[in-house]
Amino acid sequence: MTFPNYVPMFIDGEFVEGEAQTSLPLTNPANQQVLSEIKFATNDEMERAIASAKLAFPAWSNTPLPERARLMLRYQHLLKQHQKEIAEIICEELGKNFEDAMGDVWRGIEVVEHACNVCSMMMGETVENVAAGIDTYSIKQPLGVCAGITPFNFPAMIPLWMFPLANACGNTFVLKPSEQDPMTAVRLIELYREAGAPKGIVQLVNGGEACVNHLLTHKDIRAVSFVGSVKVGQHVYKTATDSFKRVQCMTGAKNHSVIMPDANKEHAVNSIIGAAFGAAGQRCMASSVTVFVGQSKEWIDDVISAAKQVKPNYWKNENAAYGPQISPAAKQRIISLIEIGKKEGADCVLDGSNIDVTGYSEGNFVGPTIFNNVTSDMHIYQQEIFGPVLCVVNVSTLSEAIELINNDFRANGTAIFTNSGSAARQFQHQINVGQVGINVPIPVPLPFFSFTGWRGSFHGDLHAYGKQAVQFYTETKTITSRWMEDQQALQANMSIALK
Ligand code: NAD
Repeated sequence: MTFPNYVPMFIDGEFVEGEAQTSLPLTNPANQQVLSEIKFATNDEMERAIASAKLAFPAWSNTPLPERARLMLRYQHLLKQHQKEIAEIICEELGKNFEDAMGDVWRGIEVVEHACNVCSMMMGETVENVAAGIDTYSIKQPLGVCAGITPFNFPAMIPLWMFPLANACGNTFVLKPSEQDPMTAVRLIELYREAGAPKGIVQLVNGGEACVNHLLTHKDIRAVSFVGSVKVGQHVYKTATDSFKRVQCMTGAKNHSVIMPDANKEHAVNSIIGAAFGAAGQRCMASSVTVFVGQSKEWIDDVISAAKQVKPNYWKNENAAYGPQISPAAKQRIISLIEIGKKEGADCVLDGSNIDVTGYSEGNFVGPTIFNNVTSDMHIYQQEIFGPVLCVVNVSTLSEAIELINNDFRANGTAIFTNSGSAARQFQHQINVGQVGINVPIPVPLPFFSFTGWRGSFHGDLHAYGKQAVQFYTETKTITSRWMEDQQALQANMSIALK
């Protein structure tokens, strides 16, 4: 696979190399090979992108809705045709294994499929005869130019959470993907153009903090969708709402899986392994804390044995269970946290910090790591490690497990493993977390629902995709109308009541 010398941007309908005088290398995290160079958008390029999106808005928002839906149908078809090729870009620039990269693209395709239904999702409401001869109905209208800022860990799925639905609703869009793996978004936009996306409805700009702040404060941006870490998400939410924009920020997490003693042991252990170590732990819905309730704590040895079989590698090795961390800095941070965990007194029962992957000694690999007897005051519990590191907490009762989880400020996802309907019901009802799995380790909803992280894992009111995204990307206009019969005259109504 060959990458261009410079990662292009897509501004005003053209792919451009970028005018910045400096660039940063884009490297393969498995071997540090330089794949391309990335230039950040200049101030002028940011302005051109936003101006082009603004110019495209009147015509695009007036394009008949079924025509906008047909663009999504054509796009969905092209994405499916090119799924493997997009997955390979993800493998090279982010390091996921092939199966997981295919899943990343697939979960994005499902959102585009959902956007094909935009006509019925844009329906308003009507009540006839709210007063004599008066009807009231509501319509949904697009906002204008929207912006999206995305993280490195799902370079296909998360951009696809945003611009297809925003465009289908009639908005135009400026996408700023992660500077750590921007080539996937380039391919997504190339295919979008091939599907017939009109000039200007989507712009792709590269950059970091300055570029993001430009979007957050620009007067012509009406709404901002952000996915990334808690700290940056809080900054995005504050800055963009201070600029009176509509904002949704999906942020970091620490997700707990509760294992009841009556659970199916094999299923619970396999679920822990996949959800803790899959994608090198670089998932916002990774299950990074296992809470053993009562005697289920005896299954820790089964978890350790299974984890020892999990071997990371370069994606071209088809046995690679997962790949490297995104960067040497990310690897170093994880290793430092593992050291802190040992010093804090947690039992490091499996240590992957010195893993050697044959042929890839330069790669950012971290092996599966497990800490037993973790407590909630430890750094390794409080930090989102975002690596293949599992914290195990042991408690006596389900109520204790629920209290532990409800005391954590992040609340993206959680799961319970049990064969008891009443335990599952208690958990589902009492847990203050937005996405709950019952014998399902990573309960990411399909796009006809919304991605409903809660509390510290979400800032905003309307969540990503599903019906809530249509609400997010539109305004509701409510019309009250009366059609008089010929020559019918009405007396002045001096009250607020409809007559
Ligand atoms: P990040 O916060 O470092 O970066 C996200 C985006 O913000 C990137 O586009 C980046 O360029 C930009 N950015 C970084 N620093 C910035 C700053 N100081 N000011 C303005 N913009 C800045 O996140 P990441 O490391 O790319 O992604 C991993 C994080 O994303 C994890 O915390 C993970 O849990 C979270 N995440 C959350 C969800 C969710 O749906 N809740 C999904 C995926 C990832």
